[in-house]
Amino acid sequence: MSVDNSALPTYDRHDGALPASVDLVVIGAGVAGAATAYFAARAGLHVLVIERRSSIASLTTAAATGAFRLQHDNVDELALVQEGLPLYLNFAEESGLTGWNLGIRQQGYLFCSRTEASAAKGRELVALQRTFGLTDVELLSGDEARARWPYLAPEIRQVRFRAGDGFIDQVALANGYAAASSHAAQINGASGSGHATYALETTVTEFVRDASGAITGVRTNRGDVHAPQAVIAAGPWSGVVAKLAALELPIAPTIRQKLVIPNLPAIDQTAPMTIDDETGSHWRPALAGAYALRTDPTTPVGEPLLEVPTDDAMAHALLDPASPTSLALLAPFWRDVWRDGPPAWHLMAGQYEYTPDHRPFIGPTDQPGLFVNTGYSGHGVMCSAGGARRTVDLLLGRAAAAEEPFRVGRPMTSRARDVL
Ligand SMILES: Cc1cc2nc3c(=O)[nH]c(=O)nc-3n(C[C@H](O)[C@H](O)[C@H](O)COP(=O)(O)OP(=O)(O)OC[C@H]3O[C@@H](n4cnc5c(N)ncnc54)[C@H](O)[C@@H]3O)c2cc1C
Repeated sequence: MSVDNSALPTYDRHDGALPASVDLVVIGAGVAGAATAYFAARAGLHVLVIERRSSIASLTTAAATGAFRLQHDNVDELALVQEGLPLYLNFAEESGLTGWNLGIRQQGYLFCSRTEASAAKGRELVALQRTFGLTDVELLSGDEARARWPYLAPEIRQVRFRAGDGFIDQVALANGYAAASSHAAQINGASGSGHATYALETTVTEFVRDASGAITGVRTNRGDVHAPQAVIAAGPWSGVVAKLAALELPIAPTIRQKLVIPNLPAIDQTAPMTIDDETGSHWRPALAGAYALRTDPTTPVGEPLLEVPTDDAMAHALLDPASPTSLALLAPFWRDVWRDGPPAWHLMAGQYEYTPDHRPFIGPTDQPGLFVNTGYSGHGVMCSAGGARRTVDLLLGRAAAAEEPFRVGRPMTSRARDVL
């Protein structure tokens, strides 16, 4: 079921002339930009969020699976998600938006190994996660797993499961950040009279500089806005926007698709996100059916797009039992789904905003006044609160950039594509 917050307050739109001056411009109103505005308004800043599309959270954020997990392979990303959880789980109270629903379902993430090689890697990962203090990841044999999730295939020999991981409606989250940022006085713990407004159908085309070369604002198709600080939160477009400031930000937009099956009675709606460690194919219960996905490691990097194309081959790769990446390898009921005639489905697509090490860029750049909050490499929903809080602390001088593990310019090791 999708969530409906339409009877609740919404964010303030800036439809007339843009303000001449604000404390902070945020470029992009996806989940990262809206979260940045939320924490900045809460800290007392007057914020203008500039979004080129006609609605917020309508590009990458709209395409996401809407899932969050603490099962990460590095302590830094774990910390980002961990920090956000209390906000996600108590959003209505923390944001002051009484009744706001994020559709949270803590049904767990279940990673399944069908070979000894991936089972061994799984055991190593769980041992590593324990060193991070993440001690509630269960490691189960195939038989133990099938006793709990009878839909699993007999070939599954080991699973990793954390019950507290789950699903969140990411569009509701972004809209919630935005609505709360426009009503910041109500945010739990807010200081001063911070406030954010949203200028839609407005594109940042240039950065404005003073005589010394320092950035003092942005130029848009609706005029200039002066601001001593700006944050690039433009998702897959962040590299392009950074270039406007002569900043090289390595972001590699890579198409990723979501198969939406709105109605499928065969799906156990209480099931966890179920992932095939061998192929990366996975599904989670959603609507009255499922979302199914696969990270195809061969997808080439491309240019950022405003309309991201889909390819029906993805649906066949997941649904056709003859496919080497079929979901039927994980759970035989998918074979019956195909045999009975594939259900009504459609595809949605977005672009992962990969950085070389698949970790975000958070904080100041070499251009005074210019900050980034981007490059989440496919994890931007779950990391949104932690990343935005840090961005705002850095721009307010409440934290030291040198201590930020996700700082721009950090040493980076290139990584292979993740399963998720
Ligand atoms: C298929 C898929 C599944 C995913 N699943 C998950 C998941 O389960 N969990 C998770 O945590 N993450 C997931 N992600 C990743 C997550 O969706 C992204 O990391 C996140 O949405 C990025 O948010 P963003 O705000 O940075 O970017 P976006 O949502 O792309 O927002 C950036 C905005 O900037 C605007 N913009 C760009 N240039 C300009 C300009 N010059 N002027 C004004 N505005 C501009 C764009 O129009 C856009 O609206 C998934 C992604 C995909 C594609």
